Parts: sequence; structure tokens; C-alpha cells
Amino acid sequence: MNDYVKRDLKYIWHPCGQMKDYEEFNPIVIEKGEGVWLYDIEGNRYLDCVSSWWTNTLGHSNKRINETIKKQIDNIEHVIFANFSNKPAVDLSEKLVNITPDRLAKVFFSDNGSSAVEIALKMSFHYHMQKGNTKKKRFAALSDAYHGETLGALSVCDIDEYNKIYNPLLLDTIRVEGPDCYRCRYGCTRDNCNAECFADMEKCMEEKHDEISAVIIEPMVQGAAGMKIYSPNYLEKLRKICDKYDVHLIADEIAVGFGRAGEMFACNHAQISPDFMCLSKGISAGYMPMSVVMTTDEIYDCFYGDYNEQKAFLHSHTYAGNATSCAIALESLKILEEDNIIENNRKKGNLIKKLTLEKAKVSKHIGEVRNIGMITAVEIVKDKFTKKNYPWEMRVGYEIYKIALSKGLLLRPIGNVLYFIPPYIINEEEIKFMVNKCFQSIEEYFIENKL
Ligand SMILES: *Cc1c(COP(=O)(O)O)cnc(C)c1O
Repeated sequence: MNDYVKRDLKYIWHPCGQMKDYEEFNPIVIEKGEGVWLYDIEGNRYLDCVSSWWTNTLGHSNKRINETIKKQIDNIEHVIFANFSNKPAVDLSEKLVNITPDRLAKVFFSDNGSSAVEIALKMSFHYHMQKGNTKKKRFAALSDAYHGETLGALSVCDIDEYNKIYNPLLLDTIRVEGPDCYRCRYGCTRDNCNAECFADMEKCMEEKHDEISAVIIEPMVQGAAGMKIYSPNYLEKLRKICDKYDVHLIADEIAVGFGRAGEMFACNHAQISPDFMCLSKGISAGYMPMSVVMTTDEIYDCFYGDYNEQKAFLHSHTYAGNATSCAIALESLKILEEDNIIENNRKKGNLIKKLTLEKAKVSKHIGEVRNIGMITAVEIVKDKFTKKNYPWEMRVGYEIYKIALSKGLLLRPIGNVLYFIPPYIINEEEIKFMVNKCFQSIEEYFIENKL
């Protein structure tokens, strides 16, 4: 066993998993990245199909970003953000206000997605308290939602493996049955959907709006639920009903922002503007921890006043407004624009979708292929007609993940859903490699296990 692997196992507690897995399947120690490729200390390479947890947009070790960082740290790497500021943070904020939907006019900085969600929840509640809506103490969120794993963020999640044990500690969230387009309970298909399932949200809002501070959603795609893509009609209806009942709409664009879902922001698909938009992951091109919450002048103004009125938003994260992160985010936005990346991604996204559909058609095991922008997912089912899944304990996705690694692919399935969320700079040859090796891995698994 390599010395690094040995010491990793001795000292490190890795995220989101059972450490027992690592003994049988050792951690892979990466020492270099280039474009879509990761190179480990044994000399193997892996195509990063998941953009290192959905963050890396412009490839590993991107030359322009690397130069930007070097330049920035020779000036100022980080400076306290209370009463102090820095050039990249100012430039970035102006840029974000210009490119996000109308009404979003102020930028609050933090350093990870979960804390951005905490901030939006707290701001929404605090706003309503100041307006005298003292009954608005709860948040509404969708079934299968994922919004991060700190206690507040976890409270609005609905993923049993993450939530269950902590339930006694969590906020009393109102859970609304959300869209499920592959297994639509209203019998709609993707092409024939007017978001009929919104009826559940409508009913909930009618009954409980005076208790609800905000509704939080992942626009267009519920990522951790298995890349569940739904109709923009749902978002349109949600915007309208939130206005009707004086409930904030929090758009958690942490996974889908910055072009991932085919538009600069997923809300653009429905041409809606939320009251809060949480951004992270792709914002800093996969380089540095960073997040922001964007909000409206109306909400900002409500907090403007004196301390003794408890108006100030007394919330801070040490690394807020980090100058190096902001410089990266600015440069990344420049690259997206100058290289016309979101437009060019249309062709790439379509190619990934087309190749995946071709392979899925001749496979017995794929229930659905879902695609939006640079997100493509395949759901493995036991039976295409009943849409029944293999039981969780079989860990079908995990077994396929291990086979795929031996073929040079880094996948990270969610249960029985495999997905491609590659860096935007992936080329045609790499796309073909990614789809082919993935399906080879799937077929191999089923042949080996005689299923
Ligand atoms: C990743 C993610 C989060 C949490 O972000 P962290 O940086 O991991 O805390 C929240 N919401 C969504 C939709 C995400 O994808």
C-alpha cells in the first residue's frame, strides 16, 4: 500500500460515506489535474465526469485562472470584510448584479453552499419579524430536496439518509410533495406537462401561508435527489403564488448556476426572479470555497437602520469576500463570456444526451435518460415498465462506480442514478470516451452479477 494511502487511512475522516468502505476500496490520491483529467500517484488517470462535486467548470489547472490567482496573491490574498473591502469583491458584486435576474441588487458573501442557505433562511425570517409578520416562522421545501447539511440547511432537506437521525434537532419544516416527472403522480409526461403537480404547493400555500416565511427550491433540477429535472412551469406558478401570499422565494442555484443547467441561471428557464438566490459551487470554477446570497433592495432596505432596533443582519463568516476567491470568480465569468461557453455548451450537452440515449435504448437496465444543459443522468431500474428500482442495499451505483474507475472514469452515482456533469471544456473525443466507458461499466456489472 502506498504511504500516502496508508497515512490517509490513519488520519483522515472523509465526507459523505462509511469509512469502512475505504479499507476494502482505498482512497485514490490525486496529484495532478489537467482539463477534464485527474492523475493519481500511481500514474492512473480518470475523466472527472462529476466536475469534482459539480464545481469545476473550466477544467483542472486552468491556465487563465492559475495566472489570475498568482497575480492576486501578489497583491492581497485576503482581508477582513467587515468595514474593509477589496477590488475583486467590488467588481464581482457589480458583475453579479448585472447578470442575475432583475431585482437582485445586493450581494452577501459567504464561503460554502450550506451557509448561503442558512443566510437566506435567516434573512427571510428576520425580514418578516421586522415587518411584524411574527407568525411567519416556518419554511416550506419540496420532497427530495437537498440544500446542504448544516442544521438549518439540513432542516429544509428531505433526504432520509442525511436527515433521519438528526430530526430531533431540526426546524419544523413544511414538506410539500414536489415534481417527479419520471414517476408523475398526475400521469403527465415530460412533453405534456403544465406542472399539474403544483396543486400540492397551491393547497399548502392556501392553508399555511401565514406561517410561511419562505419557500426554498432547487430551480429546474433536484440534484442530490438524482438529477430530477422538472418543468419551468412549476417555477412560474411558484413565483406567482409567493407574491400572492407575501412568502419569499429562495432559489438555491448552488448546483445549477453559472451555466450548468444550460442558461446562466436556472431561474432564467422560467424567466423568474427570486427574492433570494444562493450561489456557490461553479461560482469559483471549482478552485476555492465561496458562496453568495443575492437579494433585493426591498429586503436590504428593511434591515437598514440602527442597532437598537435589531435591524442589522449580524451574521458573518471569517472568509467572506475572500479576495482570491473573488478574483477567480471574476475571471471565470470573463472566460464564460469571452469564449461564449454557455452557447457552445448547447452542442456539447446535446451530444452527451444523444450518445447517452443511443446507448440507453439498447440497454435493458435504463429507465430514463434526463438532460438539461450540461447535466445528463441515467436512472437504472430493475424493470423498465414498472420503473421499480433495485433495493438500496445492493449498491448498484457504487458497484458500477468501482468498475468505471478501472476504466478511467470518475463517476459518483446517487443511488441508482448515474450522471455526467463534466467540466464545460470537455471535447468531443472525451465525451465519447465518457459515455462509452460508462455504459461498458453498467453492462459489465449486470453480466458479472447475472442480472
Ligand atoms: C452542494 C449543494 C449545497 C451545499 O453546499 P456546500 O458547499 O456543500 O455546503 C446546497 N444546495 C445545493 C443545491 C447543492 O448542490
